[in-house]
Amino acid sequence: MTAGHPLVSLRKYPYPYRAALTICSDIDQTTPDAFLEIHRFLNTTHETSMGPGVGLEIGDSFWMYAAGPHPEQRLAYFAGLDPVEGPWAGLIRDFIRAGYLDCLHTYGDFNHYGGFQRELAVQGVRQFQDQGLRLDVWTNHGDRHNFQNIHEPWSLGDVAQTRYADGDQRDTAEYHMDLSRSLGIRFCWRSADLTQVWGQGRPLRLGDLCPWERLRHPRTWLRWLGPTLRAGVGSSGANALLEPVALRDGSSLYAFKRYGRFSQDRADDLGSMLSEQHLAQLIRDEAAAILYTHLGKRLNPSGPVIPEAAQAGLRRLARASQDGRIYVTTTSRLLRYCLARDQLRYAVAERAASLDITIDPGVDAAHLQGMTFYAEHAKPLRLLLGEQELPLRRNPPDHTGRPSVSIPPAPLSPEPLARYFVSHG
Ligand SMILES: [Zn+2]
Repeated sequence: MTAGHPLVSLRKYPYPYRAALTICSDIDQTTPDAFLEIHRFLNTTHETSMGPGVGLEIGDSFWMYAAGPHPEQRLAYFAGLDPVEGPWAGLIRDFIRAGYLDCLHTYGDFNHYGGFQRELAVQGVRQFQDQGLRLDVWTNHGDRHNFQNIHEPWSLGDVAQTRYADGDQRDTAEYHMDLSRSLGIRFCWRSADLTQVWGQGRPLRLGDLCPWERLRHPRTWLRWLGPTLRAGVGSSGANALLEPVALRDGSSLYAFKRYGRFSQDRADDLGSMLSEQHLAQLIRDEAAAILYTHLGKRLNPSGPVIPEAAQAGLRRLARASQDGRIYVTTTSRLLRYCLARDQLRYAVAERAASLDITIDPGVDAAHLQGMTFYAEHAKPLRLLLGEQELPLRRNPPDHTGRPSVSIPPAPLSPEPLARYFVSHG
């Protein structure tokens, strides 16, 4: 950020929010039918099989290829391992364009059998580009047969060349990072990015460093503690939401953290993740959380599509969003916002008739949505991006008593998806 100006400072979250949260669900086990009912509940306020929807900006993930058994039950763009559009291609396109499908959960589920090849990425990325579809979030998936994964110790998705025992260097058959990058991918999640610290972008506390459950496994705990302390316990150190990582092909991406546990990866577990206590703690810490889960995975398959405990948690989250406490948006939008905020550079200058905040050029104006500045000044305020004056919205004093100005946010609308959300009868 710019050297502090006595009159202007950047607010951490869009006005009036005090924290941020989203759910980043992996698509394993979510059937297309369940997907639609889950998103009718999450994204609309329509009547659903679980009562009225919560109307939140929560996105989801999908596969490109329907690899593995039961291809018709997978939310995949292509019908199988050939680049031929499957029954859900149109739905996936529409959800991507509306902003509610924003994470590529790898090219497909290659658990147990393996089989991913670069050629699949070549074909898939070409078709997505022909359709004008872009994605910026990638989440690694599954067991070590998924050589496509990015930057895992055993994976090859970001290894351009492999050296063989005879000294030869050959192109890696599973390398795809260059292609995935051309699709827009710049954020990734790896299994090492799963965190049990509640809320990122805030300094770590003693309780985070020495939680009781970790002390039961002192060896694992010590292996984690060393690097954590080395990275620094501040909000931009070991507990940052985003960190740049150097990949093995020489390129780099931003890795992001998800909160949760591999042993608690069902929708049922969202109830306790979204407890009143957790939400209040997030607000006190002015922190951001991205929850790890599988929305389509539940203990009781014959129960409601979203288990009751999770419904209750989501209703608590919806209240926190509606009353301006917690900013809820899709993973992609939240990551873009946090990155733009952390990288924002601006200068403040007092003119005869205005106070000008000039943002350094090179920022995409679309990534500045919701950006909020505290500003107490008698003169009118102008926000400039290079030569361009950005529209500003004036906000009344928030919980700190200070007034602010925001670049008006442009919320997502589920309206373009109305035909998928036909009323429940
Ligand atoms: Zn998965």
